[in-house]
Amino acid sequence: MKKTVAFYTLGCRVNQYETQALREKMAGLGFLPAADGEPADVYIINTCAVTAVSDRKSRQLIRRARRENPDGIVAVIGCYAQTRPEEATAMPQADIVLGSGDKSRLPELIAGYAAGRGRIAEVSSFEASAGYDSLGAVTSMESRTRAYIKIEDGCDRFCAFCVIPYARGPVRSRPAGEIVGEAERLLARGHKELVLTGINLALYGSERTGGGAYGLHDVVGQIDRLGGRFRIRLGSLEPTVINEDYIKRLLVYERLCPSMHLSLQSGSTRILKEMGRSYTHDGYMGLVRLLRAHDAGYGLSTDIIVGFPGEDDGDFGESLAMVKEAGFLHTHVFPYSKREGTRAAAMGGQIPAGAKSERSRRLIAEAEAASWAFIDSEIGRARTVLVERRDQAAGISEGLSENNIRVFFQGCEVPEGDFAEVRICARAEGGALGELCPGQGPG
Ligand code: SF4
Repeated sequence: MKKTVAFYTLGCRVNQYETQALREKMAGLGFLPAADGEPADVYIINTCAVTAVSDRKSRQLIRRARRENPDGIVAVIGCYAQTRPEEATAMPQADIVLGSGDKSRLPELIAGYAAGRGRIAEVSSFEASAGYDSLGAVTSMESRTRAYIKIEDGCDRFCAFCVIPYARGPVRSRPAGEIVGEAERLLARGHKELVLTGINLALYGSERTGGGAYGLHDVVGQIDRLGGRFRIRLGSLEPTVINEDYIKRLLVYERLCPSMHLSLQSGSTRILKEMGRSYTHDGYMGLVRLLRAHDAGYGLSTDIIVGFPGEDDGDFGESLAMVKEAGFLHTHVFPYSKREGTRAAAMGGQIPAGAKSERSRRLIAEAEAASWAFIDSEIGRARTVLVERRDQAAGISEGLSENNIRVFFQGCEVPEGDFAEVRICARAEGGALGELCPGQGPG
């Protein structure tokens, strides 16, 4: 009788990618995906620890899996297991607890448990010598259009608020040949957009080049030389690593989408210093101007923390102003979440929850206004949309433009997974309304 497996995944694109890789590994061992609503023989919970809320959600999923099948094997992997091993191991619902650096070992640990080895708790030691923990190749993604490719793991920046270096360990970069091979296979499967992702993508290769972070360009260049019509999008980049030279070297690649997630975290240079982030308000704006000089509609998104310890009204005001000044398409607002073991957790000047929610509310409103202003600035421009969905009944197609705007347009002539030239016409709920440029059709 074939065994079934179910996956619950929290957090970032890297976690999503790893779950897909594990899904393919388990399928290779004969496991079938559990049918919706059916209890599974094995549950794999790929956890997150970026905020206190992520910890709580991780615990909820562990309990849910046990409720769904009291006799199933429940494996808890990833960042929550890595940063709070005692807590995770103390949960009676968890049979296997495995840290972030050795996820490739999970199938053998599941087999060991099924063979009667008993409860297993292994938290990664991140020996630098261990190198990149390859989960094997991903051959397809649920989305037929876009595919994530994980190229790097870990971070060595230790920003004051961040638990990720403790959860993910030092920088480990995936061999370039493995990345390019996976890209070729995904393109052969019909994916038209490859999203390169990592924990600190910009640090790709830095452990090999002694901190000179020029590895990412090399990988982008190799993928850029592959044949066919497709585009490359970068996941989140850190201004703690990149500078103007770094960006100029990226902008030479034609297939690279003019969009970037550039984590700001605060508009206040004083707070950035407290956070241990190595750039200033003006330095960040210099990067923005460089990107907009390359494409006036360069799609920028970012993360901003409100209520970092010691943040006063003036500091917060600078974050508000920066959202408008930079013209972000998307701004993710995070109320500061104290993470045990980080420098900021021990800092004075912790901001009360009420003040954090008030600042979140105001920043979200400002971010929305900035997003609409960006969409307005695109009206009249033609953009290339990768069609993801078509509603034949309504006669509407939808997809992402190269600068990361979700675009809805009349007509279903262009099939899913194909590119359509669309002129931006107006705002729309969730993005922009467009019209198909003349002469568009299949192919
Ligand atoms: S660079 Fe990013 S992942 Fe690394 S410590 Fe700072 S915020 Fe965390």
